[in-house]
Amino acid sequence: MAFIRNEALKSTLDRKPVTIIEPVERRSELYAVNVFNDTAMNHFMTKDDYNAVQDAINHGKKIDRKVADQVAAGMKSWAISKGATHYTHWFQPLTGGTAEKHDAFFEPKGDGTAVDKFDGGQLVQQEPDASSFPNGGIRNTFEARGYTAWDPTSPAFIMGTTLCIPTIFVSYTGEALDNKVPLLRALQSIDQSATDVARYFDKSVNKVIATLGWEQEYFLVDSALAASRPDLMMAGRLLLGHEAAKGQQLEDHYFGSIPERALAYMRDLEIESIKLGIPVKTRHNEVAPNQFELAPLFEEANLAVDHNSLLMDVMSKIAARHHFKVLFHEKPFAGVNGSGKHNNWSLATDTGVNLLGPGKTPKSNLQFLTFFINTIKAVHDYSDLLRASIASANNDHRLGANEAPPAIISVFIGKHLTEVLDELEHVSDGSLSPEEKTELKLNVVGKIPEILLDNTDRNRTSPFAFTGNKFEFRAVGSSANCAKAMTILNMIVSEQLRKFKVQVDALIENGMKKDDALFNVLRELIKASKKIRFEGDGYSDDWVKEAEKRGLNNFKTTPEALKAQVSNETFTLFEKHGIMNKVEVEARYEIELEEYIKKIQIEGRILGDIARNHVIPTAISYQTKLIENVQGLKDIFGNEYTKFASEQVSLIKEISGHIGSIMSNVEKMTEERKTANKIEHADKRADAYCHNVKPLFDDIRYACDKLELMIDDELWPLTKYRELLFTR
Ligand code: ADP
Ligand code: MG
Repeated sequence: MAFIRNEALKSTLDRKPVTIIEPVERRSELYAVNVFNDTAMNHFMTKDDYNAVQDAINHGKKIDRKVADQVAAGMKSWAISKGATHYTHWFQPLTGGTAEKHDAFFEPKGDGTAVDKFDGGQLVQQEPDASSFPNGGIRNTFEARGYTAWDPTSPAFIMGTTLCIPTIFVSYTGEALDNKVPLLRALQSIDQSATDVARYFDKSVNKVIATLGWEQEYFLVDSALAASRPDLMMAGRLLLGHEAAKGQQLEDHYFGSIPERALAYMRDLEIESIKLGIPVKTRHNEVAPNQFELAPLFEEANLAVDHNSLLMDVMSKIAARHHFKVLFHEKPFAGVNGSGKHNNWSLATDTGVNLLGPGKTPKSNLQFLTFFINTIKAVHDYSDLLRASIASANNDHRLGANEAPPAIISVFIGKHLTEVLDELEHVSDGSLSPEEKTELKLNVVGKIPEILLDNTDRNRTSPFAFTGNKFEFRAVGSSANCAKAMTILNMIVSEQLRKFKVQVDALIENGMKKDDALFNVLRELIKASKKIRFEGDGYSDDWVKEAEKRGLNNFKTTPEALKAQVSNETFTLFEKHGIMNKVEVEARYEIELEEYIKKIQIEGRILGDIARNHVIPTAISYQTKLIENVQGLKDIFGNEYTKFASEQVSLIKEISGHIGSIMSNVEKMTEERKTANKIEHADKRADAYCHNVKPLFDDIRYACDKLELMIDDELWPLTKYRELLFTR
């Protein structure tokens, strides 16, 4: 291993940035050239077929087989003109990643000739060998087979020489086996609920879309160095390793100049992303060394989720060209800042209005307040569900680790909006007097746009923050598929908007004026959701205590957090919005628990292996060297040797101590795993992994890291923090 570390270091030392041949076209000209978008459709399809697809996208209309054949023909000609030879249904199974199975267009006819074949049938539906994807028992209960079906709302694209068709993945009985189906259903639900409410303000609104702009954080590590670390390769994070002497204390990386090699990678990545229609725009360094962020312009949520999954795939592929490995893990390096994926979210009408954007007139601000306050109330009522939507073994390392938002869900809105809500709250009960109405409109609601312009205090410690014209859900993990968080967020806001409408309509029916009715209900919502609002430092211990007093939950571990998904209330909610039935929700719970268990189990095995087979033998070699040294000193100085060898002797003893501790803890961990594996129910098994297996990682790591500090650097087999983090 020492050999591998040295070899890896040698090969990285003379790495040069890969030369990027800049395309002659400007980026604006390259945008979406590999996407079967409007322009391509117009060119390769008849007007009628194009309109049919637009109807499906915008109004959920069904596409009949004849039109599907025409679309397929157009798509095929377009793809072949771009050099594609294969096609695949591209989907997002519950592994969290993406899946594809490539088929060639080419088909021999049996008479010695061949054709390129791709028709409506192949476009619309496929039957991948689904048995290897997680399904949480759905397919055992129902039907053995699953199929993928075309999602016309997300355009097809070409990767390499393959035409990729975004699809959903469902069982034959219709249960969702992927992340996209529930998301699409949640988006449909919020479209209805938000449109109904938006029509209080503007009758010409017919559709509301949820928008998502994610910010992807990641680390870049030299591929040879990464390959020299079995833990990084198999678990995506370092399971041991002492922190580098220089970490991020100096904060000299954030927004600093991007190292040349990384910059070459980013340029290459951006060109590929732009061709795929992913509107990447900003790139910058993050807090930790070798940590970066990439953010696109926001898009309709379903497309944004697809683009994020696609981008993560592209990032890994392009990294290989540049001899990098991309780390998407939420916490690859203990003691160093972790990675998240902020989800910026808002609602936009088909009349081009951002419903979370304050306007210039009191009327548009009443609309803003309506959506703003309802979102806060939704987070208040369903904070546990929101917490569950971001729970994973990886993200546990981050939430609550004093650098990322805490595991306690709260909402930050800034000083000025807090003042606005406080004023609204204190308007007297019942219908408003004319003076109050005027005051409210002029003094409170009228002030909002100016207020937001100078609303610069951006609290970085909040998991859910309002940032001017959108909410930013910051607790989402960097390796997560955003679909899950987006499904929950849109569902709970949809639910809240429905309740809101019922209340407002009831007041109007009783003779109250519309604006008064809106204000009255909003005031009640402000009062009822007060405890979820927090403007202070989310990292502080005071907040933990305060949150407890307020009755807010602080679920620090995944097994604890996931439980909110399987309450009767949750089942009812999912069903009511047509998002998932009880079987589908339970299946997901099972899958997530199993994934959690597997992650910890695998980490335990890797850690045991590295500790026993790499660290201990190295410790023994070094100890043997020390013993030989002491022996030699004894030969020279006789009984006086202790004068010269006391340091060595104490090192020898210390090494033995650590070896003993590693051995016994690895043993203990193995036993705990065995005990846990015998537990039948996944939730109890996950608890056992969480509380009995995982804590031993820290003890094992502690001893290994002490040894790393003590042992001759020449002998140490594992590439070190400083080498992984500071190689540029
Ligand atoms: P940061 O959080 O790093 O300071 P910003 O606040 O500028 O960055 O957030 C930028 C992100 O917010 C981008 O990904 C952008 O697309 C997204 N965003 C901006 N407006 C909206 C919106 N109306 N809906 C969803 N996302 C949006
Ligand atoms: Mg952000």
